[in-house]
Amino acid sequence: MYSSSGSPSISASANAPAITALKGVGAALALKLARLGIHSIPDLLFHLPSRYQDRTRIIPIGSLQPGDECVIEGTIRASDIQMGRRRSLLCRIQDGTGTLTLRFFHFSAAQKNTLAVGASIRCFGEVRPGPAGLEMVHPEYRASHAEGLTPVEECLTPIYPMTEGLQQGRVRALIQQALTWLETGSVRELLPEPVRQQWRLPALKKSLVYLHAPPVDADQHLLLEGMHPAQRRLAFEELLAHHLTLMQLRHKVQEHGAPILNATQRLSSQFLRQLPFQLTQAQQRVSAEVCADLEKPLPMLRLVQGDVGSGKTVVAAVAALQAVENRYQAAIMAPTEILAEQHFINFSQWMEPLGIKLAWLAGKVKGKQRAIQLEAIADGSAQIVIGTHALFQEEVRFYNLGLAVIDEQHRFGVHQRLSLREKGRDGKRSPHQLIMTATPIPRTLTMSAYADLDCSVIDELPPGRTPVNTVVIADSRRDQVIERVRVACAAGRQAYWVCTLIEESESLQCQAVEVAEIMLKEQLPELRIGLVHGRMKSKDKAEVMQRFKAAELDLLVATTVIEVGVDVPNASVMIIENPERLGLSQLHQLRGRVGRGSVESFCVLMYHAPLSKQSRERLAVMRETTDGFRIAEKDLELRGPGEILGTRQTGMMQFRIADLQRDSDLLDSIRQVAAELADAPDVMESITRRWLGHQEDYGHV
Ligand code: ADP
Ligand code: MG
Repeated sequence: MYSSSGSPSISASANAPAITALKGVGAALALKLARLGIHSIPDLLFHLPSRYQDRTRIIPIGSLQPGDECVIEGTIRASDIQMGRRRSLLCRIQDGTGTLTLRFFHFSAAQKNTLAVGASIRCFGEVRPGPAGLEMVHPEYRASHAEGLTPVEECLTPIYPMTEGLQQGRVRALIQQALTWLETGSVRELLPEPVRQQWRLPALKKSLVYLHAPPVDADQHLLLEGMHPAQRRLAFEELLAHHLTLMQLRHKVQEHGAPILNATQRLSSQFLRQLPFQLTQAQQRVSAEVCADLEKPLPMLRLVQGDVGSGKTVVAAVAALQAVENRYQAAIMAPTEILAEQHFINFSQWMEPLGIKLAWLAGKVKGKQRAIQLEAIADGSAQIVIGTHALFQEEVRFYNLGLAVIDEQHRFGVHQRLSLREKGRDGKRSPHQLIMTATPIPRTLTMSAYADLDCSVIDELPPGRTPVNTVVIADSRRDQVIERVRVACAAGRQAYWVCTLIEESESLQCQAVEVAEIMLKEQLPELRIGLVHGRMKSKDKAEVMQRFKAAELDLLVATTVIEVGVDVPNASVMIIENPERLGLSQLHQLRGRVGRGSVESFCVLMYHAPLSKQSRERLAVMRETTDGFRIAEKDLELRGPGEILGTRQTGMMQFRIADLQRDSDLLDSIRQVAAELADAPDVMESITRRWLGHQEDYGHV
């Protein structure tokens, strides 16, 4: 539909002038620039300001707020050297509206003389709260005893992303040279004219010039907010590049085709009849979407989101049966052995009456047992295979895998997701893929980070659940909390006690949880208390979990390893120590372990005072809602996408100019444009290369 239009290609092409063509760029500087991905002059032009400083106005001191970055002007009223923990020079300046302290830790005698009482001074810096009111630490400044301070800047000052050993001033000067080059040279316009018209996106060249050197009359407010059309145009192109990359990955998988699995319902209807409950409306709807995908000759790539306890496993079972009905194998993979084992137990109960054979594979299945399982998987006698990542090891050969279900996939990053696709493939065809996650993913993220997947949402809980009561309590009231556990367990309930730790080290975490266990055993001698943590052998871990499930334990002390999927309906109390250390989504996951039965459940968030403002806000969200989507939106807002996607995926979600939160309204149009570009592969390729060209491993496995 579109062909690349505009001026002859320069940017992102081999004949773009090298960065060394600029005056003053030698080998050493070129090396530093290369670290920022800058090799040519057009690359430099795409090194966009990450923000702007406003040095165009002098702000009255009386109106300053902590966090402001601005220019102020006043007269020095006091200038003293303070000797305290660190010797520092303090100057109090006044401007008729208020006073502020300048603080210098390093200063020369000459500086001390310049900063003398009576001098006029103009400073630029960040305002911070200090021991005696607001202060600026090491501001940039100009002092003058007579008239004649330099005028303030006419335009906003661009601030560029930096690397070590490179100064803002240096980069700004290089950009000036590059802009001069751009007057006669050019960068390739990659957004086709009709697209730019339809979405009112300004031309590339104009946008670049504008952003590097905003004119005097620029709408400064919009620029500071990142909402100027020139910024939006580039954010649009960048988000489009990311989207196109994921679509290309999707196409790559779908090129292979998949077995057609017809919904005969021969087995699934029998299965549903034997369940002690009816599927919820939401389960039925999502199950129908999945079953329809399986009938197509293209591999399904579907993400099923459903809050903890929404009943995703049954949906997976129905899909697996559809594969078996068509004489294909299905694999169910969980991220931990505990979870995989739980699935295996559930599936065994469900599948046995249907005469379906299962195989079970985890790291701990060894020796002869392993050989037996591997053989059953390879010769097709195992119809449904359940396990951990062990399923995707080299030695595992499926007879004919038709469907791969990956549970709780937020633990797996995009790269793992891709590698599973590859491994599950046999020859020409790929298996269908169903990915299930209990982390509700905000729409912004499904439309960006998960654009390679179709999405279904189970947005309803089975009937009869009572929402979890959440209370936020300081750990100074620990004794009361312990009392509450005692009462609940005396009434036949079970409880979780979760320890979180800030330390990275797993061994320290385990120590802390062991200490907690000893203390709780002392204080609650009548209770049967068990312990699980990440350092335990998986056999021992599973054994403790099993005893808890069988109600042979009253209280389970654990690290966050119990986060995912464990299902013990009789457990109705959860204590989380130091919840302020966890992200909201993680807290939500943990809390989902209770409230699974019909009795009223409690979650106690036992924080350590003092809490920061953000932590208070976050814990309040937990108290106010149990809606996973609202919690995820809030998490995204407060902590950014990394928290929800997991660290593995944040790499690919780092944008140069776009901001998912701010620019989320662009995503619908981006999806549309991406679809229109499908028949312009050269444009697609140039756009992705321009924005993602240096992330070589993006999308590779
Ligand atoms: P999750 O979505 O967290 O994986 P599960 O599939 O583990 O949830 O289901 C949680 C519990 O709810 C299980 O005990 C399951 O048997 C039960 N369940 C699932 N669907 C229904 C339903 N429609 N009605 C009643 N109980 C259900
Ligand atoms: Mg589950």
